[in-house]
Amino acid sequence: MICCSRCGKTVSSDEIGLTKKLINRGATSFFCYACLGAQFRISTEALQKMVIVLREAGCTLF
Ligand SMILES: [Zn+2]
Repeated sequence: MICCSRCGKTVSSDEIGLTKKLINRGATSFFCYACLGAQFRISTEALQKMVIVLREAGCTLF
């Protein structure tokens, strides 16, 4: 089980993929939507939409 590096909440595979996309592909610490959103000033809803768009685009991280 992987937890958010900032708040300790369990992160989903989508959140892991998005951390890699936003920070870097070799990331070894991961963040939940709320903490990614706080860091990049993006809402959780916008991050979830980003995952859907990236998945539909065939991104290999999702
Ligand atoms: Zn978090």
